[in-house]
Amino acid sequence: MNNRSFHPESLMMTHGYKPELSEGAIKCPIFQTSTFVFKSAEEGKAFFEVAYGQREKEPNEELGLIYSRLNNPDLQILEERLCLWDEADECAVFESGMSAISTVMLEFLRPGDIMLYSKPVYGGTDHFINKVLPQYGIKGIGFTSEQTKEEILDLVKKDKGNIKLIYVETPANPTNALFDLELCRDVADSISTDDQDVVVCVDNTYMGPLWQHPLKHGADLIVYSATKYIGGHSDLIAGAVLGKSKYMTRVRTLRTFLGNMAGPWTGWLLMRSLETLKVRMTQQATNTVEVAKYLQTHPKVEKVYYLGNLEAGSRQHDIFKKQLKCAGAMISFDIKGGEKEAFKFLNSLKLMKLAVSLGSTESLAEHPATMTHSDVSLEDRELLGISERLVRLSIGVEHFQDIIWDIEQALEQV
Ligand SMILES: *Cc1c(COP(=O)(O)O)cnc(C)c1O
Repeated sequence: MNNRSFHPESLMMTHGYKPELSEGAIKCPIFQTSTFVFKSAEEGKAFFEVAYGQREKEPNEELGLIYSRLNNPDLQILEERLCLWDEADECAVFESGMSAISTVMLEFLRPGDIMLYSKPVYGGTDHFINKVLPQYGIKGIGFTSEQTKEEILDLVKKDKGNIKLIYVETPANPTNALFDLELCRDVADSISTDDQDVVVCVDNTYMGPLWQHPLKHGADLIVYSATKYIGGHSDLIAGAVLGKSKYMTRVRTLRTFLGNMAGPWTGWLLMRSLETLKVRMTQQATNTVEVAKYLQTHPKVEKVYYLGNLEAGSRQHDIFKKQLKCAGAMISFDIKGGEKEAFKFLNSLKLMKLAVSLGSTESLAEHPATMTHSDVSLEDRELLGISERLVRLSIGVEHFQDIIWDIEQALEQV
């Protein structure tokens, strides 16, 4: 009875923080400082040797604090806490989800390389893959959730040797399409060679870090927009990358030189948010069950995209059972009609806010085709079901009856 490995939610208030180093303060203060004083020149030299990878850490040596672009207590403690949920070796926190994602892509891809990526992905990610990376001679090849391992391998049979990264967003934003991570691992393994690993990176923003743990299903790295559930209050922008040490060392080094780490104030806000992560997400998911039930039978609703409604026996349902612990709190639906009807609904909401972003305490509604995904090619939008009828909801922590009341009165206006 002397030892117990506590659940992550029990450790979010204390893990990695030593009050005696901060005048006994129960909460980690905000270390609003650019640089840290060395006790001696020898100490400064030793810290730099480790930070710049000139030598390995000694068995009991901790990397000392140097300069807030390299490390800062608000980020280090936050990173240790984030690792607990996904059981990751290491974590690096970024100034935004996009900076986390673009740093991973820039680290693992070089001119001439190809990235396989799941479609659809978040609009900003789609833009980076299809508009920015090609300028550096890097090509993206997309695959959908319906394709099999053989079909995916067939897409790349000519240029197998150039694939360096498989990037997967699951569930996909905004359709909730699920991708099989073990299948992605299989694809990566079958094109990896003795001297070149193909890295699998998963955007876990929709389900993590509570309900999906990609590292257990073969992923090497996880990226988050911490702006969403992890931050959870629509009051900050941040991102994170987690995963295996051998890859995280590379990600952290590029972060040091791009200088896109989060600041101490953002780190502090995220630690505050992590304390309530589980209660928030659990309440949001419970509310969403009720909202889905309501939408399912509404005569003005054509189709509901919710992970709790997947047909038993379907491939999507099999992936759900294997990979996810919960149906989550994101729900989309096709309204009968088109843009006009969707806009009328959105303009009539009284409690829910009309805004992009997701995962926050307040419920949000938006129109992917003209907002978050307006930059995705028309061809891909049609292929993936991002039509003018589609409305996306992020369910918050309000009383579910109030949310349903709001949806009902807005649908009446249509
Ligand atoms: C919002 C979002 C991003 C981008 O994150 P930012 O914090 O806005 O930079 C990436 N992926 C997904 C799934 C998102 O929802």
